[in-house]
Amino acid sequence: MAQHQFQTEVSQLLHLIIHSLYSNREIFLRELVSNASDALDKLKYLTVADAAYKSLILDPRIDISFNKEAKTLTVADNGIGMNETDLEESLGTIARSGTKAFLEKLSADAKKDSNLIGQFGVGFYSAFMAADRIEVISRKANDEKSWKWSSEGKDSYEIEEAVGEVVRSEQGTTVLLHLTEEGLEYANRWSIEDIIKRYSNHVAFPIYLTYDEKEYDDKGKEKESKTKTDRINSGQAIWRRSKSELKEEDYTEFYKGIAHGDDAPLHYIHTKAEGTQEYATLFYIPAKAPFDMYQVDYKPGVKLYVKRVFITDDDKDLMPSYLRFVRGVIDSEDLPLNVSREILQQNKILMNIKNASVKKLLGEFKALADAASASEENKTKWETFIKEFNRPLKEGLYQDFANREALQELVRFKSTTAEGWTSFADYLTRMKADQKNIYYITGGDEKTLRASPLLEAYKAKDLEVLLMDDEIDDIVIPSLHSYRKELPGTDGKMETKSWDLKAVNRAGADEELGEKKDKAAEKEAKPVIEKIKKALGERVKDVKLSRRLHDSPSCIVADENDPSMQMAAMLKAMGQTDMPETKPILEINGDHPIVVALKDTDDEDRIADTAGVLLDQALLVEGIKLKDPADFVKRLNRLLS
Ligand code: ADP
Ligand code: MG
Repeated sequence: MAQHQFQTEVSQLLHLIIHSLYSNREIFLRELVSNASDALDKLKYLTVADAAYKSLILDPRIDISFNKEAKTLTVADNGIGMNETDLEESLGTIARSGTKAFLEKLSADAKKDSNLIGQFGVGFYSAFMAADRIEVISRKANDEKSWKWSSEGKDSYEIEEAVGEVVRSEQGTTVLLHLTEEGLEYANRWSIEDIIKRYSNHVAFPIYLTYDEKEYDDKGKEKESKTKTDRINSGQAIWRRSKSELKEEDYTEFYKGIAHGDDAPLHYIHTKAEGTQEYATLFYIPAKAPFDMYQVDYKPGVKLYVKRVFITDDDKDLMPSYLRFVRGVIDSEDLPLNVSREILQQNKILMNIKNASVKKLLGEFKALADAASASEENKTKWETFIKEFNRPLKEGLYQDFANREALQELVRFKSTTAEGWTSFADYLTRMKADQKNIYYITGGDEKTLRASPLLEAYKAKDLEVLLMDDEIDDIVIPSLHSYRKELPGTDGKMETKSWDLKAVNRAGADEELGEKKDKAAEKEAKPVIEKIKKALGERVKDVKLSRRLHDSPSCIVADENDPSMQMAAMLKAMGQTDMPETKPILEINGDHPIVVALKDTDDEDRIADTAGVLLDQALLVEGIKLKDPADFVKRLNRLLS
C-alpha cells in the first residue's frame, strides 16, 4: 500500500470543501454521475476507434446504490476505468491552472460556490461535502489489475491493488462514499431520484438506482424487503431529437448538466442540417461569462460527437476562440468514427460544420439585437448578452475577417450623444449629412473620457463621438480602419459604403472641425508654440495649435501611427518592455488666457512652469499617471503665487 500526499492545491481545495461549502451539497452526485458518463464516453469511443478495444462488450450503464445502515452511497460505471497512474494523476492533482482563480473566488462568496465546483474541473472532490472517507475501486479497460484509491480528504490518499474487491464488470469504476451525518440524507431513494432528475436527466447513458422496497403485512408489520432496480433518467441524446418534441425545460435541464451549474442559459440554438452534410448542433449562450473566459488555458465549451459517439471536449478549434463562451454539442454523421483528434483541425467536413455554426451563431446574435426593442424581456436579454460578451466579440473583429461584416453589427459602444449602447449602424442614423468619419475616443474609463478636453470641439459642432473605455478597443478599433455597410445608393441599387474610423485622441482626426485652420491664426500662435516646444524639449513629440479645444488650454494626442498613451501604458503593464517610448503631441488652445499670457513674456522660468503645467494637466485629464507629480505641484504652486 502506498501513501501519497495530495498536491498542495488539492489539499487547499479539500480544506475549503470540507469546512466552508455547505449549500448545495447535493451537486456532488451530479459530479460523480458526470464523471461516470465521461468515462463511458471515452470507452465507447475506443471500442469504435481502436482495434484493441473492439472485442469489448459494452453495455454502458451507471449504477447508484446506498445502504442506510452502513452509511454508504455508491456510484458505479463500466466505463474506461483508471489504472494506478491514472488514479494518482486524476485524483491527486489538479491539472488546470484556472483552479487558483477558483480558490480565490471560493472564499469570496462561499454560498454560491459549491455550485461552481464542477465548472472548474474539480468535481470529484466535491464528494467530500457529503463523505468523510471515499474509496475508488477501478479497473482500466483491457487491464488485468484493479486498484483502490482511498482518502479521508485531508492531506493524503492511499493506492493499493484491489484484490477481491469487486469491480462490477470487466472494467470500470466504483466510487464508494462513507457518508457524513449531513451526507446521510442522500442515502434515500427519493432524494437520489430527485437530484438525478434535476441535474442528470439528460445524461446519455442509463442511470439505475438500486433500493430496498419493504413490504408490509395486513397489520402494518414489516414482512420482507425486496431489492429493486429502476432506471431513473430519461437519457437520450437531446440534440438528435426533433425540436417539436422538446420543451424549453428539456433544453434548460440538459444545459445545467453540461454547464455544471444551476442557472438557465440566456439562449439556445438547436440546428439539424440535412443534405450534403448531416449534422446536429445544440449551442447555448450562458447568462454569465465562464469564469475562465480570459484565461489562456480556458476549457472549451463545445463537445464533438460523431454519430452520437463522444469524440472530444477539449478541442479549442471547434469554435473560433472569440466564441469560447458558447457551450454545447456538435454531432456529425459524416465524420469517420475513428477520426484522430490530432487531424481534426484539417478535416474538411468539420471545417464546414464549424463555418456554418459560426454563421448561424452570429445570425442568432443579430436576431437577439434586432428583437431587443420588441419587449422589456428581450431588451434585458440583449443587454445581458452585450454586458457579458461584447468583449470577446470585439476580439472577433480582428480574428475573423470572413465574418467581420457580421461582427461589426454586433459590437456596442457608449456614446457622447446617446444613452446606453450604440452600434455603428446607430451612429450612422445620427450622423450629419456631410460627415465623412465615425469618431471615437479610447481611454481608461467612461467618466474620464466624457470629461476629456479633446471632445470640446466635437461637442460644439454637434459631432457624435463613440466612447471606448474597454482596453481591447484600443487594439481592435484601429485595426478596423473603417466601417462598411451596404446601403441603397442614389439609383436605388445597393452599394457598399464606407466610413473611416477616426480616433479623436490622435493627430489627423480634426480635419472636419475646420476652425482655427486659418493661416493667420497659425502664424500668430507660432512664437508661443516655439517657446513651449523649447521648454518641453524631449517630453513631447511636437506642439501644435489645436482645432479641437474650446474651454481647456491644452490636450494631448498620439501621432497617427503611434499607440495611444493609454495603450502604451497597458502594454507596459502587460510586461512588454521593448517598446520604443511613445511621446504625445501637445495641442494648445491659442485663445485660452493662459496661452495668451505666454505671448508677452520672456521670463524663461515662467514659460517652463506654464509649459510643464499645460502638458501635465493634459495628461492627468486623460487618466495618465504623471512620472513626476512633485514637479507638477511645484510648478503649479510657483505659478499660483
Ligand atoms: P473533470 O471531470 O472536470 O476532469 P473531476 O474532478 O470531476 O474533474 O475528475 C477528475 C478526473 O478523474 C477526470 O478527468 C477523470 O480523468 C478521472 N475520473 C473521475 N471519475 C472517473 C470515473 N468514474 N472513471 C474514470 N475516470 C474518472
Ligand atoms: Mg468531473
